[in-house]
Amino acid sequence: MKTVLITGASRGIGRECARLFAKNNYNVVINYNKSEDKAKELLEELKDYSVRIFKADVSNRFEANSLVNFTIGEFEKIDVLINNAGISQNKLFTDITDEEWHNMINVNLNSVFFVTQKSLQYMIPEMSGKIINISSIWGMVGASFEVHYSTSKAGIIGMTKSLAKELGPSNICVNAICPGVIDTDMIKDIDKDIIENLREETPLMKIGTPYDIAKCALFLAEDNFITGQVISPNGGFVIN
Ligand code: NAP
Repeated sequence: MKTVLITGASRGIGRECARLFAKNNYNVVINYNKSEDKAKELLEELKDYSVRIFKADVSNRFEANSLVNFTIGEFEKIDVLINNAGISQNKLFTDITDEEWHNMINVNLNSVFFVTQKSLQYMIPEMSGKIINISSIWGMVGASFEVHYSTSKAGIIGMTKSLAKELGPSNICVNAICPGVIDTDMIKDIDKDIIENLREETPLMKIGTPYDIAKCALFLAEDNFITGQVISPNGGFVIN
């Protein structure tokens, strides 16, 4: 059985990835940070599958290492890593404090560095692995009032492309998924009119679901020739 480690899987996209991978015969490690109740609820929902939960703030190097060590301790290897944990904030660039800037970069970008670097200790000797980084359309095209968020997500795209080149000879694929607007807690505080405008501007005329992203992650996890790519399930909202 293959093993997937999913960061930030207590809610939203990560939670749906946990469901889909568990039902597709993967051992699943569900990382959470603040939402312990949600993680336990998901563990109960998936009790017939091979699932574990582990609390770690992945923006902290020590806790990120513990998460990877836990996964190895439980399942002996990591076949697929989904770097999904993330936060967002709407704020005028000129009002962003140093603390807010650093927190955004730490949670959204440095966490990917920490968890990936530690996981590679186990993937490289196996000459096998899939790394799937959850970026965003805003990392591709930029978003006003979300410069720190967009910067962190653009950083993930750069890391993905560079790592794909470095890790190709180790037979490890690294790809980024850039979701469009997806119906999760992350967008729940955004004005309903703004969401409706985004929906209307989307050629497919709909907001995405966590399942739309989970399916894409599973596809990448099972593929052996796609690496260094940015795949954007976004209903046509961004077409490059
Ligand atoms: P969400 O519903 O708010 O869930 C975020 C998840 O990240 C939660 O499970 C949360 O866990 C976890 N998390 C946050 N900080 C963490 C930390 N320091 N350590 C460990 N886990 C942490 O958001 P979502 O929409 O599913 O977003 C998932 C990813 O997709 C993010 O990277 C986001 O930027 C990206 N994305 C989302 C959208 C969208 O429209 N929703 C669009 C593009 C990209 P706890 O609650 O347990 O702390």
